[in-house]
Amino acid sequence: MWNIIGQERAVSLLKHGLESNRLSHAYLFIGPPHVGKMTLALSLAQALNCETEDRPCLECDSCRKIAAGSHSDVQVIGLDYNEDEDAERKQIRNVQIDGILHDASLPPFEGKNKVFIIDGAELMSAGAANRLLKTLEEPEANVTFILLATDENRLMQTIVSRCQRIELQPMSIAEETQALTEKSGIEPEQARLLAGLSHGCPGWAINAASDPRIMEQRGSELDQIIGVIRGNYEERFAYVFRLAAGFTQNRQAVYDTLDRWQDWWRDMLLVKLDCDNMITNIDRKEELANMSKNYNLSSIRNFIQSIDAAGLQLKQNVNQRLALEVLMLDIPREEAKVSPI
Ligand SMILES: [Zn+2]
Repeated sequence: MWNIIGQERAVSLLKHGLESNRLSHAYLFIGPPHVGKMTLALSLAQALNCETEDRPCLECDSCRKIAAGSHSDVQVIGLDYNEDEDAERKQIRNVQIDGILHDASLPPFEGKNKVFIIDGAELMSAGAANRLLKTLEEPEANVTFILLATDENRLMQTIVSRCQRIELQPMSIAEETQALTEKSGIEPEQARLLAGLSHGCPGWAINAASDPRIMEQRGSELDQIIGVIRGNYEERFAYVFRLAAGFTQNRQAVYDTLDRWQDWWRDMLLVKLDCDNMITNIDRKEELANMSKNYNLSSIRNFIQSIDAAGLQLKQNVNQRLALEVLMLDIPREEAKVSPI
């Protein structure tokens, strides 16, 4: 039984490869954060090493050890966060890849197949990618590499061409809500809220269901956003200053914050269009309804486009503070406050 929420297409491809004994020696799983890339990779590692007919059974010693991260033939490598270094310069280093390539040259120790999972493969240094490429060109028997990446464009094309590429798509909100209720035992209303907030990536929802700090942080982020919308220019620029200062250390956190802005304004649009059942922030319906009265449809629509544009500019490495300041200037004025001239 493949222990993953959604991703039926990817699972059926891998199942078919397993049953017909035609699995690739290298896979590239592409998809947004928390969509299920690591879960699927670990499931494949279990299927490759399971001791029963019903691969992966999730119950034999091998399946259990892989789930616990203690199987000697299954290794996960990624960024080493222990070093005190600028996050932007962080890379998967040559020495990490050398380590797994050396291990890959040895026969399996306790299982049937060696599996190496490279999390954030787009963060390999050029040297590391070139070392891996040589091994991908001359694959060993009983060795599988699984590369996980969010941004395919940052991977060397030669690496991509050596892998079987499998794309993992976010689930629909309805599917995710149902899966979270049935498989993870989350209450339906909470499941619907988490499914919306996770944008179809169940890993985020499952983390948020078990770690209350995640929803607390989302709540305080939303409160800040609402404060900024109601605030004056000084408050808005102070907010941007804080946001931009964190960008170098953690880009993803700033992208996530922009997603929250996007969700809030999209929700206001939906509330205005009487499509309340489609909103993301279902626990803030009343606040949304009150705020949306202050804006007309076209100003909400225009501002959603401004948020899109700011997100794109950040990804294109435009001066991030400037891009965010322009966004603050674009926040529409409340209708009641528009001067009557
Ligand atoms: Zn098993």
